[in-house]
Order: sequence, then structure tokens, then C-alpha cells
Amino acid sequence: MIGDFTAEQIALRERCRELAQEFATRANEHDRDASHPHENYAILRDEGFHALNVPAARGGRGIDFLAHTLAFEALGAGCPSTALAYNMHASMVGPLLESDEVAEETKVMLADLVVREKALIAGNFSEASSTSLIGERHIATRATRDAGGWRVNGRKMFASMLQAADHCCVMTYPDDANGRWAGMVLLVPREIAGKTVTENWDTLGMRATRSDSMLLEDCLIPADRLLWRGEDMRPFREAHSNWLWGSYTAVYLGVAQAAYDEIRRVVQDRRPPGYSQSLAYHPDVRRHVAEMSATLESARLVTYHSAWLRDRDGPTAEANTALFRAKYVVGEAVARITRTALTMGGAHAIFKGGRLEQLFRDGALGPIMAPQADFSLHNIALHELDLDEDEIVHPLKPA
Ligand SMILES: Cc1cc2nc3c(=O)[nH]c(=O)nc-3n(C[C@H](O)[C@H](O)[C@H](O)COP(=O)(O)OP(=O)(O)OC[C@H]3O[C@@H](n4cnc5c(N)ncnc54)[C@H](O)[C@@H]3O)c2cc1C
Repeated sequence: MIGDFTAEQIALRERCRELAQEFATRANEHDRDASHPHENYAILRDEGFHALNVPAARGGRGIDFLAHTLAFEALGAGCPSTALAYNMHASMVGPLLESDEVAEETKVMLADLVVREKALIAGNFSEASSTSLIGERHIATRATRDAGGWRVNGRKMFASMLQAADHCCVMTYPDDANGRWAGMVLLVPREIAGKTVTENWDTLGMRATRSDSMLLEDCLIPADRLLWRGEDMRPFREAHSNWLWGSYTAVYLGVAQAAYDEIRRVVQDRRPPGYSQSLAYHPDVRRHVAEMSATLESARLVTYHSAWLRDRDGPTAEANTALFRAKYVVGEAVARITRTALTMGGAHAIFKGGRLEQLFRDGALGPIMAPQADFSLHNIALHELDLDEDEIVHPLKPA
């Protein structure tokens, strides 16, 4: 039942809360400079977090998705960018080590990299033309067989912690594939001939994720770094949508919690001259706080429930829909809560370097972050109305 957490889940959440307090002390600096939070990644590595969702049989901690949700909610409340970028590691490692579609020797190699070598793994599926609008991902980056490996050409975008991670899982399209849903994930090391990075991540929020762009030109990847290949990526995506899509939700839940905590502190501390009571006593302030509390708690319960259901039932249609529901609800909640908190903080809160100002910008990305709000609603509706996606009229006129 939700709320009946195991001792391990509670201990992990507590440790993450402690780490989040430390990460929060550096969040402003990394946000201002849009710099990689290298110190935070180093701490997470030393804590053994790279192996959190590696199955126990492969030397990891093998935590379930609910434990992951509790952990990343706590981390997200400290430094949102650290939590969001670092989550890419879990969102790549989890599916690859769990999937039946991944070869055993590949799993051994990956687990060794992550557990023994403590390598940090980023993930880059997106490209400039990526869109969820038509429910599919056109992959322009091509991989061609060459010299016993794969020669890769293409431009990728939005790769969180790209130059902080040791390797990046890059989604490509194999030249010898046929279907439009085909794909191939290659493990690209940080330093390799043919790879250049464009540091263009100067964004509104989640600035320290440094989700930069990467150009791959005749980049040769050895054959044993082919992690996954399929003619249809949809079953892989659906089987692991907890890690691939659902794992960011908790981070934004943490952002909402942080804004809620901060504004309560502000209104309790602030006493206008000439009055004996703090702003917290003002009826409008009380009402706003109560509304935020209701929004936050409902988002939290929907999120925990989705994680619990996914752990209990596996990747059923109900569980996957619950993950989309949670992402939608949290995206709306974080955008609303951070905006209300900023408004209540007033002009005092809008200065650069202020906690509420940063959380407002980070929170604004909640509904935009994949799976986006509209895409989540699209998937919820398909399930709730029992619709066949292939029968849906295309929303845009084909070229
Ligand atoms: C902070 C951050 C970090 C990221 N990190 C990574 C990373 O590490 N690796 C990586 O590969 N990618 C990453 N991404 C990229 C992200 O996951 C998306 O692939 C990328 O944002 C491309 O989508 P888009 O929002 O530009 O476009 P779209 O998918 O086209 O979305 C734009 C808008 O179109 C509308 N829309 C989209 N789909 C539908 C639909 N089905 N129905 C109705 N309306 C719809 C929505 O309003 C949506 O907000 C990151 C993004 C962010 C914001």
C-alpha cells in the first residue's frame, strides 16, 4: 500500500535528503554559470549511486522504481539540475540491463562499466527535428557498418551532462534497417575522434544540466559498443517506460516541494513594519498555501501510485498510463506551485540568485520535459478510450 515504504526505501530517501541539502548550497552558482555540478556527480558516484538500479545479480543495489521515485524527488528538491541530469544515467542503465532484447555479453560489459569502473552514462535520443507531435521519433543520425564497427554521422541535441558523463548512449538509425521505427543505441565515449560538442545550452531553466548538442562525423564505434538494436523501438520503450519516461517526474515533484517549503519559510519570516504578525497570518496567504498543499499532495500520491503500480504489475497498459498521468499532473502542479510561490514572494523573490526565482524557471520546464504534457494526455486518452493509435486521423497535413 502507498505510504508503507520499506526500510530500504526510507533509508535511501533520507540519504538523498541529506545530499540534497548540500547540493542546494551550490545550486545557485551552477544555475548562474550553467556549469556542470561535477562535485555533486562525484559524491553520487562515491555513494555508489551509479549502481542504484543495477540488478543485484549484476552487483548493483537493484532498487525498485518506487525507491527511485522517492530518491529523485528528494534530490530534485536540492539541486533540480543535478537530479534531472543524473537521472539520465538510471534511465539508460535500467532498460538496458533489464531488457530481453539486450545481449547477455552487452549486459555484462555495461554492468562492469557502471559497477566496477563507476562510469557515468548520459543518454541522447533527441535531435533538432525530434517531436512527440506525431508520436514517433524521426532519427536522422545514421550508423553504417564499417571496419568491424559502426560509422556514425549526425547531429544530436539536448544531451544532459554530455561532457560530464564518461559515455553517452546515442540513438541512431542503422543504414541497413527498413522500418520507420527501427533504431540502434550505441555507447559513445566522452572523448572520441569525430565528435564535437556545441555548448549551446543557455536556457531558461535546468541550466546546470548542460544539455548540449553533439555533432558526430564519421565517428567509429566498436561493434561491442552496440547496446541495443531493434526494427521497432516501441516494445522496448513500452516495456521500460518507467525508467525511460517516468523517472523524470519525481525530480519535478521535488522542485514543487522545494518551492512550497521556501515560500512557507518566507511568509513565516516576513513581518511588515507596524504589524505584530508575519505574512503567514494573512488570509490570502493562508489560502494560497492551502491550495499549494492540496496540489502538491495530490501530485505526490498520483506519482507514488504510478511507481507502486509499475513495480507490482510490470509494464501493463494501466501502469504505463499511470506513469503518463503522473507526469502530466506533476508538470501542471510544479508550474503552478512555483508560479504561485514566486508571486507570493513578490519583488523580493525575482532577483537573480534567489531560490524562488530559480525554482520558478526550473519548474517551468516540467510540462515541457518529455513526456510532454500534451503527449502524456494523448497517451492517457488512447488508453482510457480504448483507441487504436493507427486509426487516429493524423493531426497535420502530410507534405
Ligand atoms: C531540461 C531538459 C533536459 C533534456 N535532456 C535530454 C537528454 O538528456 N537526452 C535527450 O535525448 N533529450 C533530452 N531532452 C529533450 C526532450 O526530451 C525532447 O526530446 C525535446 O525537448 C524535443 O522535444 P520538443 O519539446 O522540442 O518538441 P515536441 O515534442 O514537438 O513538443 C513541443 C510541444 O508540442 C506539443 N506536443 C508534442 N507532442 C504532442 C502530442 N502528441 N499531442 C499534442 N501536442 C503535442 C506540446 O505542446 C509540446 O510541448 C531534454 C529536454 C529538457 C527540457
